[in-house]
Amino acid sequence: MNVELVCVGTELLLGSIVNTNAAYLSEKCAGLGLSCYFQTVVGDNGDRLARVLGTAMERSDIVIVCGGLGPTEDDLTKETAAKVCGKKMYLHEPSKKAIESFFAYKGMEPTDNNWKQAMLPEGAIVLHNPNGTAPGVIMEMKDVKVILLPGPPNELQPMFEESVAPYLASLTAQVICSQTVKICGVGESKAETMVMDLIDGQTNPTIATYAKTGEVHIRVTANAGDRKSAAKLLKPVVKELKARFGNHIYTTEEDVTLEKSVVDLALANNLTITCAESCTGGMLSARLINVPGISEVYKSGVVTYSNKAKRKLLGVKKSTLQKYGAVSEKTAGEMAKGALLISRADVSVAITGIAGPDGGTEEKPVGLVYIACSVKGKVTVKECRFSGNRNKIRESAVSAALALMRGCILEYYSKVTFGKKES
Ligand code: ATP
Repeated sequence: MNVELVCVGTELLLGSIVNTNAAYLSEKCAGLGLSCYFQTVVGDNGDRLARVLGTAMERSDIVIVCGGLGPTEDDLTKETAAKVCGKKMYLHEPSKKAIESFFAYKGMEPTDNNWKQAMLPEGAIVLHNPNGTAPGVIMEMKDVKVILLPGPPNELQPMFEESVAPYLASLTAQVICSQTVKICGVGESKAETMVMDLIDGQTNPTIATYAKTGEVHIRVTANAGDRKSAAKLLKPVVKELKARFGNHIYTTEEDVTLEKSVVDLALANNLTITCAESCTGGMLSARLINVPGISEVYKSGVVTYSNKAKRKLLGVKKSTLQKYGAVSEKTAGEMAKGALLISRADVSVAITGIAGPDGGTEEKPVGLVYIACSVKGKVTVKECRFSGNRNKIRESAVSAALALMRGCILEYYSKVTFGKKES
């Protein structure tokens, strides 16, 4: 079966918002084994939306439309889709009651146009929206299913997980299972080269690589008559990936992030962590502190942006800064040592670099970042050269710092070698 996406909103066409719903829905549909051949963005215009829907319904088995389910005049999706599908609209009492309770809970009065959201196409399956007032809608026709979802991602995503994904899975006798192998410390192109032969020969399971900042995710998807058979198909491929990427795989669990894997590793080894950041200005600490349960692991961290702060707070030597500069292997190493000393943590990570757009030289270009990690006094420093704008460089530095921290802890406890330079 194939699926087609239609994202509705003039804001999307103008570039005022990024179409994250398309990325989310495509990834989820691929995970369910649905092929997606077309995606369209169309503005808040009834005629153009009707034309796009007509085309999509002719060539695809499932059409997912997102956005334009709101109460205002320019929210035309439901009415237009109902017309194209030949369905009349009626007042859906349970949706009306849900809107009343939603407003009562918020202590607000609904306005007249809110009731528009309780008008639904006849015969439609209604999808509960616990996070907003616009219910989702599924219209089932003989050859095509049309699914309407609200635009705000915090409404669309829970609705997809809770209602749409099980519905799509029920349309096929096949069971789709997927597993994501998450890798750090290996670049995207290298990772792809390492699995190219598997991708070239893939049928079932299929293998797809996704580049994330500082990480690569490889999703393996199998379909079979039942869950057990699909899992059996996944197993040898995941085993092969584990053999190829070894300790660079930080998890095969869906909900484990790189920072969570670092926190789990620290917890498992009874370690505390501290961060000393310059160009990332606290972003590394923020990512770590995002992980529930971090209080057992993270005690304190510092942002030392100026040379003076690096000297005063972390004890970086004046001579080091003068001879090698703030962005250097030596300074990063001394920052990590100083951080360990002042915090009395077991593991410290220090980041110093040139995020740009200014400040680069031929010798030290924008994107040059030194990351140091000390595990119980054993210091490892990594030189990185990132590309992209200021924010991208800072995000890349944070991911690389997490990967280095993970590698150093593993190495300290199991003598695994990651090819880093030691001081
Ligand atoms: P509402 O009830 O809030 O009006 P809606 O279903 O009518 O929801 P829209 O009005 O189209 O949705 O969009 C509301 C907001 O949802 C947008 O301002 C934007 O922040 C977000 N949004 C809409 N479409 C997308 C998209 N494709 N990707 C990311 N965000 C989106």
